[in-house]
Amino acid sequence: MNRYVGKSVLKGVAVGRVFCYQKQDIHIEQTKVQDVEAELSRFQGAVEKAKEQLTALYEAALANVGEDHAMIFDIHRMMLEDDDYLEAIEQAVKEGTNAEYAVEMAQDQFSELFASMDDEYMKARAVDIKDISQRVIRILLGISEDGVPTDEPVILIADDLTPSETVKMDKNKILAFVTVRGSSNSHTAILARSMNLPALVNTKMEPSEDWNGKVGVVDGFNNEFILDPDKEVLDEMIRRKNQWVADLEMLEELKGKDNVTGDGRQIDIFANIGKVSDADPALEADAGGIGLFRSEFLYLGRDTFPTEEEQFVSYKAVLEKMEGKKVVIRTLDIGADKKVDYFHLDPEENPALGYRAIRICLDRPEIFITQLRAIYRASAYGRASIMFPMIVSVEEVKRIKEIVEQVREELRVEGYPMGEVELGIMVETPAAALLSGELAKEVDFFSIGTNDLTQYTLAVDRQNQKLESTCNTHHPAVLKLIEMTVKNGHEAGIWVGICGELAADTDLTETFLNMGVDELSVSASAVLKVRKAVRDIT
Ligand code: PEP
Ligand code: MG
Repeated sequence: MNRYVGKSVLKGVAVGRVFCYQKQDIHIEQTKVQDVEAELSRFQGAVEKAKEQLTALYEAALANVGEDHAMIFDIHRMMLEDDDYLEAIEQAVKEGTNAEYAVEMAQDQFSELFASMDDEYMKARAVDIKDISQRVIRILLGISEDGVPTDEPVILIADDLTPSETVKMDKNKILAFVTVRGSSNSHTAILARSMNLPALVNTKMEPSEDWNGKVGVVDGFNNEFILDPDKEVLDEMIRRKNQWVADLEMLEELKGKDNVTGDGRQIDIFANIGKVSDADPALEADAGGIGLFRSEFLYLGRDTFPTEEEQFVSYKAVLEKMEGKKVVIRTLDIGADKKVDYFHLDPEENPALGYRAIRICLDRPEIFITQLRAIYRASAYGRASIMFPMIVSVEEVKRIKEIVEQVREELRVEGYPMGEVELGIMVETPAAALLSGELAKEVDFFSIGTNDLTQYTLAVDRQNQKLESTCNTHHPAVLKLIEMTVKNGHEAGIWVGICGELAADTDLTETFLNMGVDELSVSASAVLKVRKAVRDIT
């Protein structure tokens, strides 16, 4: 039995088998194969399996998002029947190259060929070649699409996980996350929280492959991961896990009840989401609406920009699911820790202080306009609000409003129906908090992003685990900026919410109520916990 201490991201307990996740960027060695026939049939088997996967994906997409979006899987399946591509690989295998390496060679050769073509459509096929080749390589290496090789849910151990990797994980296959590095305010931690999975970061252990299949325990209450627990500890942990599940069930009784204190003060409790399917747990937790839809997650874990149509489908789906409840869609917040290759962002010395979020959108308006068009088109199907991240000046807001007006006018001319849409900003920089009096005159609401507001006010990198233990999450400077923002917002007659992780800190619920905060937006897993904290105030 070995015990490792980390930083808890979600207070819960998980018991199950351990799986050590390997990064998907696998380095493939070239080896010499002796039995060429066997290698050829291994390759052909992998191609058949890849085609079966693509057929299943096509059918699932057809049922969920329609023919237009499903088509890509059909195209990929057809590409796997292309004679030139298959022959290039088979020829290399016949010359004694291992199949994985032969596929990688063909991938590089064909993707370069496509990328060098003048025709835009053919150019775009380079990405597809990579995609199908990686699928075949994963099958040859026995790695499933999300990197988890079993169907039994596991405790996933990783060195660290990027938001793109986390977003691809199938929640049904994971009991808990444990990472060697990472901080509890990183987007990976936020995703774990939104999945309601016990998680620990910064455990400083050295996982090895022989851990795979061993029993592990994640104790989010005591910040501990236990590998191979002895019987006594295991029994105790199973008891604690059952207790945790029972406590969660108790909270269920608060569903349908108001978020009201003993002395009659009321507050909205909304949920934060990152993708369409997150709206289900938000509804299940009885959230009053969506206070933060991190739309950038629609851009992660893929190789090309989501089109206007794709985004429209996603926003419309969330608005329809929420049936008239408010849905605050935050425009793209790419950059910093959320990296997307196809944006071709230059490496930066200080990415958190760099080219991110609204700065990219104002600099590359074609990306911004596509997203705004999709949101406004979807606004006819529910109660949409839009908010803009990383604002530092009134001028930015004025410029955004001009672009918004232009988009609305275009859509009006094109005949699209649109709903009433509130426009708000995130107050997540000290500049925005200090200018909240002026900014409040320009917008319909503020949502305070305490994750970034804390990072920028205290000069504490939210990704740096070394600073986490010394960082006071209730720092008076941050609380003062929140109070100032609420006061200035109210003086201008607009509502003010909090959507950073601090909103779920029940030690501050009463403080926020006393400040007059109108809305707290938290992960779905925290909605009922915060409701209980509000109702416990007398
Ligand atoms: C925040 O900064 O508090 C916030 C909600 O935005 P994100 O965590 O996505 O940066
Ligand atoms: Mg932020």
